[in-house]
Amino acid sequence: MIKETPIKELKGIGEKTEKLFHKLGVYTVGDLLTYYPRAYHVYEKPVLVAELEEEKVQSVEGIVYGKVSVGGNRSMQVTTAYVKDLTGTIRVSWFRMPFLRNILHSGDRIIIHGKVQKKGKSLYMEHPELFSPAEKYDDKIDSLQPVYGLTNGLSNNLIINAIKQVTEQLDLTRDPLPKDIRLTYHLAEYNYAIRGIHFPEDKQVYYHARNRLVFDEFLNFILGLRKLREKAQVEKNHFPIDQKEHTDAFIRSLPFSFTKAQRKVWDEISKDLSSANAMSRLIQGDVGSGKTVIAVCALLAAVYEGYQGAMMAPTEVLARQHFASVSKMLKGFDETIQVELLTGSMTAKEKRDAYKRIADGTSSVIIGTHALIQEKVAYKNLALVITDEQHRFGVRQRETLAAKGNMPHVLVMSATPIPRTLAIILYGDLDISVIDELPANRLPIKNCVVDTSYRENAYRFMRKQIEEGRQVYIICPMVEESDKIEAENVMDYSAKIAAYFDSTVKIDYLHGKMKQSEKDAVMDRFAKNETQILVSTTVIEVGIDVANATVMLIENAERFGLAQLHQLRGRVGRGSHQSYCIFMSGTKDQDKLKRLEILNYSNDGFAIANEDLKLRGPGDLFGIRQSGLLQFKLADIYQDAKLLSMANEACSYFIDNKIDDYYSVSDENRTRGIL
Ligand code: ADP
Ligand code: MG
Repeated sequence: MIKETPIKELKGIGEKTEKLFHKLGVYTVGDLLTYYPRAYHVYEKPVLVAELEEEKVQSVEGIVYGKVSVGGNRSMQVTTAYVKDLTGTIRVSWFRMPFLRNILHSGDRIIIHGKVQKKGKSLYMEHPELFSPAEKYDDKIDSLQPVYGLTNGLSNNLIINAIKQVTEQLDLTRDPLPKDIRLTYHLAEYNYAIRGIHFPEDKQVYYHARNRLVFDEFLNFILGLRKLREKAQVEKNHFPIDQKEHTDAFIRSLPFSFTKAQRKVWDEISKDLSSANAMSRLIQGDVGSGKTVIAVCALLAAVYEGYQGAMMAPTEVLARQHFASVSKMLKGFDETIQVELLTGSMTAKEKRDAYKRIADGTSSVIIGTHALIQEKVAYKNLALVITDEQHRFGVRQRETLAAKGNMPHVLVMSATPIPRTLAIILYGDLDISVIDELPANRLPIKNCVVDTSYRENAYRFMRKQIEEGRQVYIICPMVEESDKIEAENVMDYSAKIAAYFDSTVKIDYLHGKMKQSEKDAVMDRFAKNETQILVSTTVIEVGIDVANATVMLIENAERFGLAQLHQLRGRVGRGSHQSYCIFMSGTKDQDKLKRLEILNYSNDGFAIANEDLKLRGPGDLFGIRQSGLLQFKLADIYQDAKLLSMANEACSYFIDNKIDDYYSVSDENRTRGIL
């Protein structure tokens, strides 16, 4: 067995199951190894009944008290028992397991493991795992069971079995990381780390394993950046651009004046464009800080110099939106400028025509998705490449787009709030400009953190806003990620809320599994205010700009990282109307609520990310990740800031010793777009 072995060769994986794995992006044995658990299920020491907390998954030990009864109806028999210890009693019910009546007897000592619920003052558990006799639980104590991201038809056990086979049969002893580095940074061996991440015996093993793999992810990433940087530094400026007169006129023509921060950043960029070396610059600025208009200035300068400029967005929705707003700005200023849209969903003929206009220079500004870097696209004289929200792209794609021209200027825009010390590492190949100020006309968003009992109030409030002509976003955590997670499904959700609004209010939904053309149609309708409520998963996250939307309701807000919530909320508060963000929490867990409260009193992305970090600490690594921020599989740039610095330091070792080897063994990562 080698890493490239197709998964079909594993026991228990036939053609049908293989297809399901493909859905998850798992094709080979190597893919399976890096299909890391999404979370772990922990069996902790049993607690007393009095210590049980609502909403938590816990184990409790006690005596079966009184008669075990079976009720319910024929299609759903419910077995009920009471479990008692010195501190209290809890009612337990199991579904479709009538035989338990014959197994459980009054006085038996058992352990049950499940979610604690409460009705009035009494506690109950539905369908918990049963350990009878109680000693059966001993083996489980403190063990971590991996929980994988699933798809319909693929069970957690099936994935566990497949990965077990791989860890047993694949030779994992070759460690790509030099021993020196491993020892210096107290990192586990590769072999240990891979086993430990999937099947940790306890939390210690898990942390140790994870640290090593996170280090690897960072190291790969930084080494890739260093290479880019080296290349960029020797690159002279093939496209000197100096069109100050035109860009000044453009800036004067805008309906607003630049903020001080925008002026400073635009100065830095225009200096780069005319200097001796090609530009490689990152603009970092919170959502709504006005990055796009600066990008437009740069495009305009390139066009007046007689060159082409391209702008790449991570999704089709965003590409279209940029196309619309950039065209409007450019054409409003000079209607002779030809702006081209290029996306994957265009027909073959449309694409051919676009390629032609790009190749002969008819189009001078080209906006699109990954389609911009397809082999067939040849540019006439591409002098400037702008990527939006770069964390969605690999550095690799950026490199490919840059290679389309003769080392064009590169400008990257990001709204991810990353503290400067980390940004310097993560964007090691770029100079950094920060827009640290929002336009003055913005009203700060009003926030509140509430529990689900507030839902009707929230709907009522939304109805009022809609009556006043505004629009609303509702964010639900995920679609079909797993049957077990009770996350509100966007489709069900949209159907359900229809009852609260009168029929003139139109509701649409958006999720990641929809076809691109469907997503676009939904976004278009929302942008035109043909729909008033958009129910969506986090696909809405980046860059969407509908100034008329003033309310965002985020369901199950406790499942998101704070930095991500902050980015989500940036979809509102973009116009002159007062905006509101309602964080609705599905939990009564005080710690989780406290974490959300941070969003209540801060609108500063950097501060929020830092606070989140302090509050969470290493004990909370299971579960919430700032997903969506940079495409690491395990690493979280906030949580793992220390490992990031370590990997950065270790980088020099590879460069000083001219070790190219490590980088190349991780090739699989690079082609998958992690780099
Ligand atoms: P970002 O991309 O940084 O999230 P945008 O560039 O999309 O932000 O800007 C958000 C909105 O603010 C846009 O409608 C834009 O026209 C407007 N805008 C940009 N700069 C200013 C400014 N200095 N004053 C007022 N409005 C601005
Ligand atoms: Mg933007």
